[in-house]
Amino acid sequence: MGKCWRWGAWALVSSVVVSSVAMATPWHQFDSPTRGHSNSIGSYANGCLAGGKALPLEGEGYQVIRSSRNRYYGHEKLVNFIEDLGQKTSEAGINDLLIGDMSMPRGGRFTSGHASHQTGLDVDIWMRQAEDLLTRSERESIHSTNMVNLEEYRIQFRSWTDDHANMVRFAAQDERVARIFVHPVIKETLCRETWEDRSWLRKVRPWYGHTSHMHVRLTCPDNDQYCQNQALPPPGDGCGEELYSWRPEAQETSTTVTQLRGGSGNSSTSTTTTTSRPNRQTKVQPQQCDTVIVDAG
Ligand SMILES: [Zn+2]
Repeated sequence: MGKCWRWGAWALVSSVVVSSVAMATPWHQFDSPTRGHSNSIGSYANGCLAGGKALPLEGEGYQVIRSSRNRYYGHEKLVNFIEDLGQKTSEAGINDLLIGDMSMPRGGRFTSGHASHQTGLDVDIWMRQAEDLLTRSERESIHSTNMVNLEEYRIQFRSWTDDHANMVRFAAQDERVARIFVHPVIKETLCRETWEDRSWLRKVRPWYGHTSHMHVRLTCPDNDQYCQNQALPPPGDGCGEELYSWRPEAQETSTTVTQLRGGSGNSSTSTTTTTSRPNRQTKVQPQQCDTVIVDAG
């Protein structure tokens, strides 16, 4: 009986160990990308990155923050996009952009945190901007600025400026960009402004969180045959019913909210919330990522 108990206890302990190991992903172990041209494989929320490029930690109009996390790698298309955006915002007199997480050196799934950012085509850019070049240690410890008063469901008037609106606009007007995720209150604020051209607002998608940064997602690079694009956002500027369905009072009464959102604004591309059952199906990683894992770099 004693033996039986010991076996039972061992089985319990080992199953705990096994399940925690199973949750860790292999992608964190890589300090360096694989060589060669960039190649995004799979979908934003289930894929990896071959030939990742490091974004230089500072450049015209931008600074990388939290570089100790080693998440400043991306497809060369993303690196070029960030450098171009920094130049454009700098020329417009906007302070330096603070660049948060891109991907790990070989992309892939994070053990915790982001669902996407796996193929080197996603980047988080803070709403807070920097007037001066910060030291590396300042960039490790800097706090973000929350642009949304969630209790009153409105923008923080003291923090939000035209520079923030224009930063989002410049990014959305870039043809490489597929979508930009911001909090619904930020999208409402952008919708209320008068713009000569409103077509870029289509790409600005309301999503949970995202009160202190915008998440920019690029389209698949032309030659990356295993890269999976997301469906286009619904036509129009997205400033109407769908956006208002995010408001707390609308959520209490509306039953069509999830249908409106399903597949269009979903930042992880993987699930819709039309059923109450959590989607726990394990994603099968694209086979081409196996080669990225075993590559000596
Ligand atoms: Zn993000």
